[in-house]
Amino acid sequence: MLFKSFLRWTYPEDCQICKNALLLTEESICRSCFTLLKNIEPPACTGCGIELAPYGKQTHKCSYCKRKHYAFDEMLTLFRYEEKFKKIIHEVKFHRKFWILDIFRKKLKRHIKQQWADNAIPDTLIPVPLDKKRLQERKFNQSLLLAKIVSSELNAPIRNDVLVRNKSHKPQSWLSRKERLKNTLEAFDIRPKASIDGKWILLIDDVITTGSTVQACAKKLKENGARKVSVLTLARTQ
Ligand SMILES: [Zn+2]
Ligand SMILES: [Zn+2]
Repeated sequence: MLFKSFLRWTYPEDCQICKNALLLTEESICRSCFTLLKNIEPPACTGCGIELAPYGKQTHKCSYCKRKHYAFDEMLTLFRYEEKFKKIIHEVKFHRKFWILDIFRKKLKRHIKQQWADNAIPDTLIPVPLDKKRLQERKFNQSLLLAKIVSSELNAPIRNDVLVRNKSHKPQSWLSRKERLKNTLEAFDIRPKASIDGKWILLIDDVITTGSTVQACAKKLKENGARKVSVLTLARTQ
């Protein structure tokens, strides 16, 4: 603590959102900004992650998802995608302040433990890969960093060698919905000898937009023998 107070005194640190000076007990984001993030409280839809009316079983789906078929078995979402949250992710991705992700550690742990009874944990954590070009630009994969936090909290291994992302060949914008889906599906491959047979996999992505990426990954994992695929994301945009 003494060392830390010395460090803060020499290098004062500001909140990444409101720019007010941080207290010694605060990391990256001040407490008042952190409490303003909109949590998603259970029960939430296991298809899209939106909050449901607070009654009924936790395994419920919203009326939209009830009619849909997803390749994954469940989706866990922590936050609503609104201004403050967007700001944090922006700092992480585009200003490369990847250490900020650690502020989600406690919440991730609590959320996950709440989800699965009897301390059940997945066999393997798999972060959604970036394609090579994107990885070279950004220098890090934020989903892998998130997976590392989850892994240290759950004591579950990460497999970063199962899913590969092929470089995107067609621009998505002029494709029809069906073609887009096919395109996304072709973007992922499973490495031979991935040995995921019968495994329960937790697929991790920082933010989910349309859901087609995790849908494609889950499909490949299931086709290659995965028994169950759960998806974990910090937030979903729609
Ligand atoms: Zn703040
Ligand atoms: Zn839903």
